[in-house]
Amino acid sequence: MSFDLYRLPRFPLANLPTPLQEASRLREALGGPAKCPRILIKRDDLTGLAFGGNKVRKLEMLVGDALVRGADTLITTGAVQSNHARATAAAAVVAGLRAILVLESADMCPPVQGNLLLDRLLQADVRFVPKDGDTAKAMETVADEVRAAGGNPYVIPIGGSSPSGAAGYLTMTLELKVQLAAMGASPSRLYFASGSRGTQAGIVLGARVFDMPYEIYGVLVSKSRPETEARALSIANEAAELVGSDVRLNSADLANVDGYFGEAYAIPTPEGDAAVLLLARTEAIFLDPTYTGKSMSALIDHIQTGQLGPDETVVFIHTGGTPAIFAHADRLSELAKA
Ligand SMILES: *Cc1c(COP(=O)(O)O)cnc(C)c1O
Repeated sequence: MSFDLYRLPRFPLANLPTPLQEASRLREALGGPAKCPRILIKRDDLTGLAFGGNKVRKLEMLVGDALVRGADTLITTGAVQSNHARATAAAAVVAGLRAILVLESADMCPPVQGNLLLDRLLQADVRFVPKDGDTAKAMETVADEVRAAGGNPYVIPIGGSSPSGAAGYLTMTLELKVQLAAMGASPSRLYFASGSRGTQAGIVLGARVFDMPYEIYGVLVSKSRPETEARALSIANEAAELVGSDVRLNSADLANVDGYFGEAYAIPTPEGDAAVLLLARTEAIFLDPTYTGKSMSALIDHIQTGQLGPDETVVFIHTGGTPAIFAHADRLSELAKA
């Protein structure tokens, strides 16, 4: 299968490869080898730039593209505790660009902590907009403002989920292939947290391009919408085109695991919080309540309900989100006492 990841402009930001780590204490806590599959954690929380996470891989390609186009300002959007917005602010610093972050918030003066504190330290220009508004339109208004001042803006969609962003995530699968071969492991499933779907597009496309053995379990962290589903598919297929691959996906390739995000995006669940504590106490790995805690709670549930056998191997992608735990300090510290 032909493809060429290196024909895309790429601005180095990440510390790669990230480790693939055996979670044997977690496995022990979940019943040991008699009950629980072998669990390997791909540490994409350790991509390096400004507390890492999955967005750093996407931003290597996005910033590469922005620089080729002569941009001087990155504009993006997300929630107040957006990991993607923080990673974009960090990428802008390293690439010598300005960052303007359009952050959705119910509160026009939210507490400066977690990712928002990092945005401030990184000197990003933060603009708050009301929740559930049209953030794409708000970014266009900001882009017009930059152009009117003689600048050249580069607008990055929410989550960095564009064809080049997804192509950036192909590097994860390439590393995983090499690491699994070195361990002699052939996982039956791969779990990760799925939000704006660029990561999913990259993972699903990567699995096809690199002929990976596993089934893919993208655990939804928010309510699925038909337009997001359609977008995931076009992102994946445009990413394939970008790297010169003739692989094409259909919507069945992009199925998701529903039922683990609770009430809504960024509203914690008891099971997600329990996963945050369990990983801290077994592996000294920090998950977050919005993404990785919820996706880990799906994996734990699938193990506990016998959907996965002890002879299997699973990969869990730790997509990052670590700074957000500080925005949940009160609740998590109460839970930690119990
Ligand atoms: C953004 C994010 C995800 C989801 O990635 P998408 O490409 O938006 O689906 C998962 N985990 C963490 C920690 C994130 O910040």
